[in-house]
Amino acid sequence: MIETCDSPGLLPIQSAISNMLEQVTAILENEQIELEDALGRVLARDVVSNINVPPNDNSAMDGYAMRCEDLVDNKQLKLVGTALAGTPFEKRVLVGQCIRIMTGAVMPQGADSVVMQENTDVKDNLVIFKQIPEYGNSVRKAGEDIQQGSVVVAKGTKLTPAYLALIASVGIAEISVVRHITVGLIATGDELTPPGQPLSDGAIYESNRYALRALLKAFPVVLFDFGIVKDNKEDLRAVFEQAGSHCDLVLSCGGVSVGDADYVKEILDDLGGINFWKVAIKPGKPFAFGQLRSQSKGQLKSQSTSANAWFCGLPGNPVSSYVTFEQLVTPVLKKLSGQIYSPTPHFVAKAACLIKKRAGRADYQRGIFYRNEQGELLVKPNGKQGSGIMSSIANANCYMVLEQDSEDVQQGETVNIQPF
Ligand code: AMP
Ligand code: MG
Repeated sequence: MIETCDSPGLLPIQSAISNMLEQVTAILENEQIELEDALGRVLARDVVSNINVPPNDNSAMDGYAMRCEDLVDNKQLKLVGTALAGTPFEKRVLVGQCIRIMTGAVMPQGADSVVMQENTDVKDNLVIFKQIPEYGNSVRKAGEDIQQGSVVVAKGTKLTPAYLALIASVGIAEISVVRHITVGLIATGDELTPPGQPLSDGAIYESNRYALRALLKAFPVVLFDFGIVKDNKEDLRAVFEQAGSHCDLVLSCGGVSVGDADYVKEILDDLGGINFWKVAIKPGKPFAFGQLRSQSKGQLKSQSTSANAWFCGLPGNPVSSYVTFEQLVTPVLKKLSGQIYSPTPHFVAKAACLIKKRAGRADYQRGIFYRNEQGELLVKPNGKQGSGIMSSIANANCYMVLEQDSEDVQQGETVNIQPF
């Protein structure tokens, strides 16, 4: 354990992330799947191309193909044939000749350049060129997108729609991806009531899981939702045991603080181990990271590299659980799923007004960025910043990332922002 409640300081967010990334190892098991099912999955092996893309030199325009040398002293060439995409002109284009060529058609032997049809006139069997092309004009070269033998997409890449098209363009229909990560989700609190049911005195609607489930959809995850568990040590312990046996990662929200009904830390101590449980982040200070020992190796777990499940205990306050998921759980999910980790990029904006901040914790305030009439990027806080005020996220378009030791940001000073 590197930091506990007994230690005086809070763990700086970068140390928390480094600590988690050092411990968590990527899942190694992979599976072969159809390319069309691969959106959002992580490549387990490099995809290497067996072909050039495009496979041949071809025309980038509808127009006429010729040797550009022929047009130096002469503006007219004899039209001798046509090349369509998929139907090449099989003969050689000789001196003084040209052919009609369509976009994507293979360049015939002898020709080296294309003039688009808008720059030509055709009279009988003669084409009059109004433009003298440079050598190679409007010709797409074989292999200019992808070279045969090159790595098209590297192992560890999460597949976006563009990557799917890129892999398809080299003729590959099946790929090897890291298996899904199994994630258990638990909400805990006596007051939590599922939406759609009447609310009793002192109760509130459970809302965090709706955000967390939706956020998890961005990852290659199979979700086990354990629902709402009461603030009761026995119940919680049983659910944690079950979740730890079935999942690679268990996420809980609520009960991780130091209140009388906060049992998460105690149970975690018992069932596994805690690495740290207080991070210098606002909102979200009580964030626990550790492991749950697997009690019995569940069926789904049998493939897993580790017998233990990683555990992230998120705070219950809605904004805190959302922000700690995005800032602290996301790196863990990326690492587990075999993705190459890269920190979220920041942009710089100017504070449109005073931004209140106390030194001590990195603050992820919810903001709105916009351009003023001078074209400058400005940012301002989106209303109240309390950790229970979910509208501060819902209506915002960025985080204003304020460093741990920084204090108030004055109007006109620069602020790092992370657009949503
Ligand atoms: P806790 O972390 O359990 O001390 O909870 C902190 C605050 O967040 C309390 O006001 C809880 O009622 C609230 N809370 C905890 N869990 C949830 C949840 N799943 N959905 C909405 N609010 C929650
Ligand atoms: Mg609670």
